[in-house]
Amino acid sequence: SDARLSDYERISVLGHGNGGTVYQVRHRRSTQPLALKLFAAGDPSAAREAEILTLAADAPHVVRLHAVIPSASAAGEAPAALALELMPGGSLAGLLRRIGRPMGERPIAAVARQALLGLAALHALRVVHRDLKPSNLLVGDSGEVKIADFGAGKVLRRRLDPCASYVGTAAYMSPERFDPEAYAGDYDPYAADVWSLGVAILELYLGHFPLLPEGQRPDWAALMCAICFGEAPEPPAAASEEFRDFVARCLEKKAGQRASVAELLEHPFVAEKDAAGAQQALAALVAEADEQGDL
Ligand code: ADP
Ligand code: MG
Repeated sequence: SDARLSDYERISVLGHGNGGTVYQVRHRRSTQPLALKLFAAGDPSAAREAEILTLAADAPHVVRLHAVIPSASAAGEAPAALALELMPGGSLAGLLRRIGRPMGERPIAAVARQALLGLAALHALRVVHRDLKPSNLLVGDSGEVKIADFGAGKVLRRRLDPCASYVGTAAYMSPERFDPEAYAGDYDPYAADVWSLGVAILELYLGHFPLLPEGQRPDWAALMCAICFGEAPEPPAAASEEFRDFVARCLEKKAGQRASVAELLEHPFVAEKDAAGAQQALAALVAEADEQGDL
């Protein structure tokens, strides 16, 4: 039988996004705490997200889909809501805000490694995310990281299916997606996710969006200049050599020269032998943020 909205009891608001709201809920019958992502009526990203999360049901480091709640009106319409695994640490954007200072390299290594493992699984399924950024990466209490929000995602039918349409958030868009004509012939849909991951982890390190001066509004023209005409941003000299190199390999402006997900998983910055300690460092930040109170 179909899931219904009345199966869930609303507890609190977890976040807002483009046209939808995510609530913390309790499944009445099982009492299980979950996240419920409610979409605006007819939002086409609801079906896309449901399709991809179903396809990626066994992928590591991807948020789990518990149920698809159909809209109450016409059958065949876009889903009204998705019941998702609850990630109690919230998003990395929220975590950064709540701790009130930039994150160190060790917790960032835990983010990078787990996001790469998630991307590797998604790309193997021919899924591109196209909107990776701190607000779409979720954390759990033990420092586990999962990729969420597939509203801009796409399942590629052929390996080089062009998908340069302007979906996702312009600020995290790679040069070849932002300006496909100028970068013609240098297009790899998977490499665009690597660029976005590079921008996101540099943001965690700096504590602010790295491509524009702090406080500048990310309007289209300023972003176009920064992403397509500017030098790729890099961590300051005080950062470790491993971190600086890792970010440089993600933020290679030419998609063909950018590191692949598989290559990055071999990078010393995300070395497997340090993974448990890095994840603990991230868990400590989640605990610290919880003490600050308000989510
Ligand atoms: P949108 O498509 O509107 O951006 P998201 O799926 O990114 O929606 O969710 C918006 C916000 O809600 C996230 O940035 C996060 O803060 C919160 N959120 C979403 N899903 C979960 C979840 N499963 N557990 C905890 N918080 C979540
Ligand atoms: Mg989002």
